Amino acid sequence: AQTYPDQIWHNGRIKPWAEATVHVMAHALHYGSSVFEGIRSYDTPNGAVIFRLTEHNKRLFNSAKIYDIQIPYTLDEINAACRAVIKANGLSKAYLRPVAYRGLGGFGLSAETPTDVAVAAWQMGPYLGAGVLEQGIDACVSSWQRFAPNTIPAGAKAGGNYLSGQLVAREARRLGFGEGIALASTGLLSEGAGENLFLVFDGALHTTPVSAALLNGITRNTLITLARANGIEVVERDIPREYLYLCDELFMCGTAAEITPIRSVDGKPVGAGKPGPVTQRMQELFFGLFSGKTKDQWGWLEPV
Ligand code: PMP
Repeated sequence: AQTYPDQIWHNGRIKPWAEATVHVMAHALHYGSSVFEGIRSYDTPNGAVIFRLTEHNKRLFNSAKIYDIQIPYTLDEINAACRAVIKANGLSKAYLRPVAYRGLGGFGLSAETPTDVAVAAWQMGPYLGAGVLEQGIDACVSSWQRFAPNTIPAGAKAGGNYLSGQLVAREARRLGFGEGIALASTGLLSEGAGENLFLVFDGALHTTPVSAALLNGITRNTLITLARANGIEVVERDIPREYLYLCDELFMCGTAAEITPIRSVDGKPVGAGKPGPVTQRMQELFFGLFSGKTKDQWGWLEPV
């Protein structure tokens, strides 16, 4: 059974988990009108840090801007709420979930409702299952495509977008796969249900562009930056589906999924059918940020 943390930050203060409730007629529940973030904190030799906290919460405000959701707090206040909820629960290695949502205050689509805000934090292991970072997963291409440009904006991390993610993820699990990969409305590769994609060809990283209906992931940006700083070429380009079967290596990345190797797609082995050297090098560089082996030249490690 799911267990829950003790404390949560809700509308300006830390309170017991059970008290952070929402009315059944809240706008977000009916229309998907929420924006959120997923952030991880890690233990390091210099104490617990929240990885790219400010970058994540900037994206929260950007998502809210797209939907005219007024967040009644400043960026600094949301950052402070993230730190407070980690401390209130005695956590160090955690997953953080800030969410801002249209609350109770009107039933029309364009109703001017109040915005409620919460930040939860809990302990979370590898998103796609125990051992997947080492062993990789078997993925499939989904029968569901991502939303077309100028329909639902993929660049906003909004609750409603995750209807698409649920279709992709649930279909994949039903068919016995570890995760699903979606194509964009163009038929070109987009991203995983909740992860961005990297393919490896001849030692270089190839990743799909933001025009392919994907979330502009902060882990994706982190890996592009780490790769280039370490002499690994990165190409952002349109990629047709069949290159999933032809690349040397393939992995997914995201805050929750971190760097999850993909060992097969649609039953076809990727490369040698196990995590390859470039994927392992990217894992080493990424997790090295928290062990101290990779120098943080970018100010990504923000103290709790
Ligand atoms: N795409 C989707 C649809 C996601 O939900 C996520 C997770 N937030 C990502 C990509 C990866 O983004 P990030 O690295 O910023 O967590």
